[in-house]
Amino acid sequence: MGVIESGQDRKIAALKSSSHVHFFIFGDVGNMDERKKFFDKAFEEATKAKKKGEIPVGAVIVKDGKIIAKAHNLKEKNKCSLYHAELIAIMKASKKLGNWRLIDCDMYVTLEPCEMCAAAIKQARIGNIFSALSNDDKKIHNNILNILKVDKSNSQVNLYNDLYIEQGREILKDFFISTRNK
Ligand SMILES: [Zn+2]
Repeated sequence: MGVIESGQDRKIAALKSSSHVHFFIFGDVGNMDERKKFFDKAFEEATKAKKKGEIPVGAVIVKDGKIIAKAHNLKEKNKCSLYHAELIAIMKASKKLGNWRLIDCDMYVTLEPCEMCAAAIKQARIGNIFSALSNDDKKIHNNILNILKVDKSNSQVNLYNDLYIEQGREILKDFFISTRNK
């Protein structure tokens, strides 16, 4: 499992662009022990998706150290492209807080969000995205960074990527192998 050792002196490998997008390859993400339980839950969600034959992606939203929403990809079940884990989690969290603004909330996700979800995360005013694995398509990845940029109307979203690379790869790999063998 690609767990980053806690207590390790992690230097901020941040590429701070002029547009104030904070993209951390191995950023100073604070206490990884604390973050592990949130990632565990996100991977639990991804496993649920996998068992249902969905692309295994899971997401949780955390506020004040507590999980307020968890979700997994349900695109096949709902036969609709909008049912990404991140979007379902945003809907659940908004309902729970009674507010579309998810202030002081963070998202933990097993795979870097797609462009659609990145835009929704920004619209929802989520502060930080903690992602287990970055998208290996650099073009998509750069699109995401552009979407998360600061602009006049919205606040900044920080993206912390590649925090659980092995586990992130494993769940996707298993899924694609098992669907190929069907
Ligand atoms: Zn998405």
